[in-house]
Amino acid sequence: MDGEILEKYRSAGRILAEVLEEARPKVEVGASLLDMAEFVEGAIRLRGAQPAFPCNISLDRMAAHYTPTPNDKSVFGESMVKLDMGVHVDGYIADAAVTVDLSGHDKLTEASCAGLEAALELVGPGVSTATIGKAIEDAITGYGYKPVSNLTGHGLSRYLAHDEPAVPNKALDKGEMLNVGDVIAIEPFATNGSGRISESSINEIYGLSAPRPVRLPAARALLKEIQESYKTLPFARRWLKGERAEYALMQLLRSGVVHRYPVLWEVEGALVSQAEHTVVVLENGCEVTTNPRNPL
Ligand code: MN
Ligand code: MN
Repeated sequence: MDGEILEKYRSAGRILAEVLEEARPKVEVGASLLDMAEFVEGAIRLRGAQPAFPCNISLDRMAAHYTPTPNDKSVFGESMVKLDMGVHVDGYIADAAVTVDLSGHDKLTEASCAGLEAALELVGPGVSTATIGKAIEDAITGYGYKPVSNLTGHGLSRYLAHDEPAVPNKALDKGEMLNVGDVIAIEPFATNGSGRISESSINEIYGLSAPRPVRLPAARALLKEIQESYKTLPFARRWLKGERAEYALMQLLRSGVVHRYPVLWEVEGALVSQAEHTVVVLENGCEVTTNPRNPL
């Protein structure tokens, strides 16, 4: 990998680690979800970077993709909170998440961390994603829980928050070989339920799929805003400005120009924990960009 690009991945990771450390203690019973998301996104911008996607704050059975609504009044209760954030520097992304458990399920939180640690010990060139998936599954089942089998880690590339290869959270027959220069986000999810998630009907995060000419002026203006500000990265409904933005968003959705990232939740309503880091594969192993204080 080009040294300049590596440095951009590193600075995105360093900024994310700093913001995560500041945000984490703010997750308390009674604190506002909207304040938390705005704090995280603001702190990223204050450091001269941009959010790579809206701050995800997913509670309890939700595994991913919840971000506060534009006028969200909700506050944290005694929940299992997943704080998942993304930072990009010139399109080069860092993606990491922690579980802050206010629900009294420490072991379930530890299980996803153990899955992540087991995976990070293995990452290097020539290692198969199947081997990583098995290590994650073994670590989580060792705690008596199940990994969420239909959610995976993923590759990262410029302005693409979800690229190849998928990094499974369970053993697979066949994986993909990691190569020097690959950037991957590894994100084990552990659950005390069935181990499967499905799409809910809650949609607060959207992304560009296929830009094409649109006629409605408000929709055209929104498409321009998306292409300029977010490119192919996800954005929040909450981020859109202007009275007609909501209407324009629905138009873009209907014409297939944007797609939703529905909230993903555990099918039985069981709790889900998550741990995530971003890693660059290097000749002698890997570097965890989102954990610069404790290089592995
Ligand atoms: Mn993430
Ligand atoms: Mn991710």
